[in-house]
Amino acid sequence: MTKTSRKITKEELAKKIGAENLALVLDNVYCAECGPTAMVEYEEGIIIESSGDTILHGKCKKCGHKVARLLETGEEK
Ligand SMILES: [Zn+2]
Repeated sequence: MTKTSRKITKEELAKKIGAENLALVLDNVYCAECGPTAMVEYEEGIIIESSGDTILHGKCKKCGHKVARLLETGEEK
């Protein structure tokens, strides 16, 4: 089996973890520049890793610094 990661859409992720959980995750992000913040502009950076975990890549709502958030969704595989 080859290990690959793939991109999914915001809609797919919302279906996978639930829209409420997704909103919660996006509001609980840590920025290296300004601390606890919310993530924006993540729609193009939702990646399912080969392990099955999901990583969101987006930007800090306050300062625009790059932020990432790991979601442990691997048990589904
Ligand atoms: Zn920030």
